[in-house]
Amino acid sequence: MNLFYKNLTIWLIIGLTAILVLNLFKGQPQTVNVLTYSDFVDKVKNGVVTNFSLNKNIASWQDSNGERFRSVVPENPSSVQSFIDAGAKIEIIPSREPHWFFRILLSWSPILILAAIWFFFMRKGSNQGGGKAMAFGKSKAQLIDAQQSTVRFKDVAGIDEAKEELVEIVDFLKDPTKFTEAGARIPTGVLLYGEPGTGKTLLAKAIAGEAGVSFFSISGSNFVEMYVGIGASRVRDLFAEGKKKAPCIIFIDEIDAVGRHRSSGAAGGNDEREQTLNQLLVEMDGFEVNDKVIIVAATNRLDILDQALLRPGRFDRQVLVPLPDVLGREQILKVHAQKIKASTDIDWKTVAKSTPGFSGAELANMINEAALMVARRGGMVTMRDLESAKDKVMMGAERRSMIITEEEKKITAYHEVGHALVAWMLPGADPVHKVTIVPRGKALGLTMQLPETEKHSHSYTYLFNNLCILLGGRIAEELVFDEITTGSGNDIERVSDLARKMVCEWGMSKNIGPIVFKASEQPGASNPLISAETIEKINSEIRELVETAHDTARKILTDNEEIMKAITLELLEKETISHKDIQNVFDQHKA
Ligand code: ADP
Ligand code: ZN
Repeated sequence: MNLFYKNLTIWLIIGLTAILVLNLFKGQPQTVNVLTYSDFVDKVKNGVVTNFSLNKNIASWQDSNGERFRSVVPENPSSVQSFIDAGAKIEIIPSREPHWFFRILLSWSPILILAAIWFFFMRKGSNQGGGKAMAFGKSKAQLIDAQQSTVRFKDVAGIDEAKEELVEIVDFLKDPTKFTEAGARIPTGVLLYGEPGTGKTLLAKAIAGEAGVSFFSISGSNFVEMYVGIGASRVRDLFAEGKKKAPCIIFIDEIDAVGRHRSSGAAGGNDEREQTLNQLLVEMDGFEVNDKVIIVAATNRLDILDQALLRPGRFDRQVLVPLPDVLGREQILKVHAQKIKASTDIDWKTVAKSTPGFSGAELANMINEAALMVARRGGMVTMRDLESAKDKVMMGAERRSMIITEEEKKITAYHEVGHALVAWMLPGADPVHKVTIVPRGKALGLTMQLPETEKHSHSYTYLFNNLCILLGGRIAEELVFDEITTGSGNDIERVSDLARKMVCEWGMSKNIGPIVFKASEQPGASNPLISAETIEKINSEIRELVETAHDTARKILTDNEEIMKAITLELLEKETISHKDIQNVFDQHKA
């Protein structure tokens, strides 16, 4: 970004130095004839030289034609006296006279100062928009030129789905005409979201590397400064530079620093940030396909982003960059193992299994730690080195909740299979799509069901099934470990919420009937219009509904305990299992 100015500064310095050096030579006497001391003495005695100046032991004079002469004389008072006796006029030059170099520097200093001031103003002036603090309005983005972009898709491992979504962008940057001719609209903005260290920056770099285009990168926090207007000016500058360098990728890391939704939280809002965000929106809207600039942004807080950022024409493509599952981790480990001297007997699959919840960055870090330990000792990285490197990384990551212990992983697996198995067995429930124990956001695991058709209203049976499924996780934990963890907190909340709605809003309880109780009339709220008796009744209806669901789910899981264990083993092995994987377990079990 500031390259232009860097170059300019360099040229300015070169120019000034050249002028200075030229001047040094000019300041020196051009031609000086040197005479021997005896010749000099003769000339004085003969009256040819009548006056000269003496600087320590150098005598210098000019003859009538203006020619300069110089001679070295002994440095003692008696020789001076003899010249005086001979009738010569002598000017003694004080030896404290500053060196000619400093004299010149001194005489040049006003010009140097002027040049510096001129340079400063020129920088300010060149920034469109004007304003007082514009010199700080440069975007500070880092630029990696196309030729220097060395990252490729093969360097990004274990997140194939995310990669697939980005291939199109690479194709577009490589050959935009193909897309424009077809009238296809390529997204101008791509938002990569996921946990820190999952490879979002790496992916963005790989897009630039694969497409062979330049890569600008800046962090969202760089836009946020104390002075109002600077962030907006930096955004403007960034986009202007980007267009100049097109085709290119502009990567904005931590976009949540600017993109947090507006006027939320802190009283009075944050003018500077809002201005910056508005400028970002304006710039993105101003983009044309022909600009061949793609904005890639990264965040781990998709939930707090301003919705305006996600509208069509802005970051309308959102790509999840998840934490890697066991297979992904193995691939990432192998990519990074190529960079070190690793013993050939390392079983990367085992290493991958023992690092649940690790991000790509943590895996890379672990390999690096192992290599460092071995560097001191010499030799190859072994399985044991990786073990101690893992401990080191895990200790460093103490504050991060996402690194999971074996025990937690096991509990989570049973919990998720509890949900999944109940869903599997209940007729009419949405089919189980996939089950994962790769953490995502705050959740340690996830069971995904996909409805076969889009539903707009729900039957009692469907909702009751949901209650059973939600309770299944907690019941599984209870059955296997005889213990309940906080992991079910969210499930329980949803169960209570759903059950309350079924009774109070949708009239699904036989004893209460089709009567709606508004939120303020529901149990817990003190409302004079509703009798304590009714509240009692509502409460017991809700409790009964939940208890029936609990019994149903519990029966399913106890009846199928063997298969629950088998599915859990499969899940622990693969960390993510699909509908088909579960079906396979069932098939094997029957056989
Ligand atoms: P993020 O931007 O998501 O926080 P980075 O892209 O900065 O994460 O990842 C940091 C480093 O971790 C990368 O430079 C790379 O060495 C390593 N890394 C992370 N994810 C992967 C991955 N999927 N494949 C290979 N290396 C990865
Ligand atoms: Zn759950």
